[in-house]
Order: sequence, then C-alpha cells, then structure tokens
Amino acid sequence: TAADVVVLGAGPAGLVLANLLLAAGIDCVVLERADRSHVQTRARAGFLAPNTVRILDRHGLADGLHRHGRTHGTCEFRTGDGRFRLDYGSLGRGEVHTVYPQQNLVTDLLTHYLDAGGRIHFETEALSVHDADGARPYVTTREPDGRPARWDARYVAGCDGRHGASRRSLPPTAVRQHHDHGVSWLGLLAEAPPSLDAVGYAVHDRGFAGHMARSPQVTRYYLQYRRGASADAWSEERIWDELDLRMRAAEHGPLRRGPIIERGVVDLACDVIEPLRHGSLLLAGDAASLTAPAAAKGANLAVLEAEILAGALAETLAAGDDAALDRYSAQCLARIWRAQEFTQWMTGLLHAIPAPDSDPSGGSFFQASLRRARLDSLRTSRAHQDWFAENYVGV
Ligand code: FAD
Repeated sequence: TAADVVVLGAGPAGLVLANLLLAAGIDCVVLERADRSHVQTRARAGFLAPNTVRILDRHGLADGLHRHGRTHGTCEFRTGDGRFRLDYGSLGRGEVHTVYPQQNLVTDLLTHYLDAGGRIHFETEALSVHDADGARPYVTTREPDGRPARWDARYVAGCDGRHGASRRSLPPTAVRQHHDHGVSWLGLLAEAPPSLDAVGYAVHDRGFAGHMARSPQVTRYYLQYRRGASADAWSEERIWDELDLRMRAAEHGPLRRGPIIERGVVDLACDVIEPLRHGSLLLAGDAASLTAPAAAKGANLAVLEAEILAGALAETLAAGDDAALDRYSAQCLARIWRAQEFTQWMTGLLHAIPAPDSDPSGGSFFQASLRRARLDSLRTSRAHQDWFAENYVGV
C-alpha cells in the first residue's frame, strides 16, 4: 500500500501516465474505482488528434490504433443555405484525425501496462487525498471488499476525472473557472454504419445535430436537447425522425438507421482548475479541465498532459528538485486555454443558443444572423478554413 506515484483513475490520462512512469523505472500504482470490464467498454471519445498519435507512437503505445483506426479528414456542414465540405486534412497544417474508439485505446493501454508488469487495483475507490502540501501525501480508499485502506505516496496523480477524489481534495486556494454553454446534447450510439464519409454538423432552427463515425458498424449521433429532459424521453423513432429533419436527409440523402445501443444527456459546460499542481497532488485530464465535446478535445488533452506530467515526475524523482513539476501547470494551461477557446467558438457556431427570456432586443435573431455570417465566412474564406483546420486537429 505504497508507491512513489499513486495514480488515481484508469482513463486515458492515468493509463498513459502509468505506462510512461513504468517505462522510466518509477514505482507507481493505479487505483481505479470501476471494474476492468467497465473501464474497457465505456464508449466516449473517438477522434484522436495527430499530436496524440505522435505521443502514443513515441512510447510504443500506438500499435492497436494503427492496425484498427482509420484516418479522417473531412467534415460537412449542413445549414439552411445548403451544405459544404471542408477537407481539413488538406487545409491548415494538412493533418488528419485517427478515428479509434476510446474504449479500444484504454484497452490497449491497460494491456500494455499489465504486460510490462504494471500494478493496478480495480474496484478501489479513492475517497480523499491527504497532506498534499507535505512531502508524504496519502490517499484513503474503499477497497473491493468495502474495507478502508491507506496508500502512501511521494506524489499523487489526480487522473480520476471530473467527479473524482482529486477535485474533492483541492485546497481552498485552487481556482475553478467554470462556464456553462447553456445547451445540452442527447448523445447516441447507433448500431448502424455511418451515413456519410465525413463528420456531419447540421445547424438547424430546431437545434444542432451531429454525425460521427466510430467504426464500420457503429455511428455516434448527437441531438441538441432540452436541458433537464430525461435521456429516455424520446422514442427511437422520434430520434431518427429528428435526426432526418435536422440533417436534412430529404435533401442530402437518407440516414442509415439501426438500434440505439446507448444514450445519455451531456450538458455542454467546461471548466479549468488553476493551478494544476497543489504540492504533491498533480491534476491531469478531465480532473484538470473539462471541455465540452463540441470540438473533441478532452481525450487529446488528457494524453498530452499525461506525457508532460510523466516527464516532469521522472525529472523530479531523479534530480530530487521539483523545478520540472513547478513548470507543469503553466505548460499545460497554455494548451488547455487554446482548446477551451476553440471549443467555445465551435459551440457558438453549431447552436441556436437561446437568448435570455428577458432580452427584449431580439437577441436570438441577432445570434442566428451572426452564426450564419460565420458559417458563410468558413465556406468561402481560405484563410478562415486554414485557421479552422489547424485548430480542429490541434491540441
Ligand atoms: P476519464 O476517462 O473520465 O477517466 C477517469 C477514471 O477515473 C475513470 O476510469 C473512473 O472510473 C476513475 N475514477 C473516478 N473517480 C474515481 C475515484 N474516486 N477513485 C478511483 N478512480 C476513480 N474527447 C475527445 O478528445 N474526443 C471526442 O470525440 C470526445 N467525445 C466524447 C463524447 C462523450 C459522450 C463524452 C462524455 C466525452 C467525450 N470526450 C471526447 C471527452 C473524453 O472522453 C474525456 O475527456 C476523457 O475520457 C478524459 O480522460 P481522463 O483519463 O482524464 O478521464
């Protein structure tokens, strides 16, 4: 029940970090609340940025995604003014995404870690991080048999997401900057082949609809949804009819329907914890910053931060001084805020964000007109397209 680095959470952040620490010969252990099969089947992200692939390549963690992932470089916008495509893979820096479901990446990372002799404890829930301002922090846990335990560490890596113990254990000096975009999505996974060979973004008066391939058999769809409504409020038929309408299937071709195998509501909100270091407790991934899924940045930031943190911990543990850890927060925050800024822009592009009821100036009409002008600029300006491409695939 001790390690130099105790890593909380076996998501992309925790598992990339643990693999890199293990490869550097650092004594570490991962504590994960869920069981192994839950961790390996939780469907979430799918679009990996080129920088994420480069990081995973650099550390020999990308075999699976090269074997089974597919590159992707086109998105299609559908609006009341027609549709247009952006081949972002040949714009900006000429880079593409790799589509590889997050649960497959997590499975690869876990297998690699265990094969290399890594230590992980499933069904072990971190309750709190203690004494993070000292040199001997520890984590209290609930073990699989329900009994309490204590894990001693020199450093605790908080990679346990937005509702984890790391965030709950922050000192009052931590600042959480939060922004609610004011819209919600019904996130769907359909057992149906993709309906178009591009990411589809439909901007419609009834609200946004999105289409993203996950595999030849499974497609993710999103529908802007009433805040507070239950995920089960709409029947499958109503969902497909609404997707048809918003994606203008009558004009641009039918959607390939299939059973909805997963659904959930996501309120589009984001936040950033500053700084990412609190003594011996270091935050990475969603624990550090939450981005709304509109621009698909979360998993990519998690991998990037894990690599930076692994380097800083290795340097600190080898050199005995923590200058590298001092730099960690600022290094990541610069990237986090770039990702937040683009996500904010993208969210504004895609949604009819309702004006406050009390706004007498016709604010929502004004917003809709701005959105239309923004889409028109994206359709016609090469400079705007290059900017979009660079930010869309970048972290
Ligand atoms: P997580 O993946 O959340 O992992 C945290 C781990 O910690 C979990 O395994 C959890 O069980 C564990 N844990 C939690 N609490 C405790 C505790 N107390 N003790 C021990 N363990 C604990 N991002 C993209 O880049 N591209 C996309 O296309 C994209 N699409 C998304 C779609 C949806 C519907 C959602 C919800 C998210 C999407 N994201 C996307 C975001 C992305 O999934 C997250 O940003 C990413 O999972 C963050 O990784 P992480 O390792 O920080 O956290």
